[in-house]
Amino acid sequence: MGRNALRFSNRVCPVCGSRSVARDEMKGITICTNCGAIIERRDTKRAHRFDIAQQLARENGLTFQQLLKRLGVSEASLYSQLESMIAMDYVVQIGDVYKLTRRGSKWYHSELGKQWGY
Ligand SMILES: [Zn+2]
Repeated sequence: MGRNALRFSNRVCPVCGSRSVARDEMKGITICTNCGAIIERRDTKRAHRFDIAQQLARENGLTFQQLLKRLGVSEASLYSQLESMIAMDYVVQIGDVYKLTRRGSKWYHSELGKQWGY
């Protein structure tokens, strides 16, 4: 995944009239690179359970901010997925660190198996 995922669009900035309007895929926003106005904010980058589990399995625990940075998803979608994973007993929150539970780890490995077809 590209870290500098700026894609120029053909839109015109409604604030300054500049044509240097770009979409930041990482942040899910459309921004004017001339005046910095955020023209559109969309939750196009939604968090997925499997991706969260994968990060947590690798690191044995990450904070919300670390997950946010690694996944490049919106805060709202990450938060709601983590909440549901906690409710399912896949993830446990200790202090500000999220960890995969045994159940979550089992689920992750079975999903991983499905991906590879075994
Ligand atoms: Zn502008």
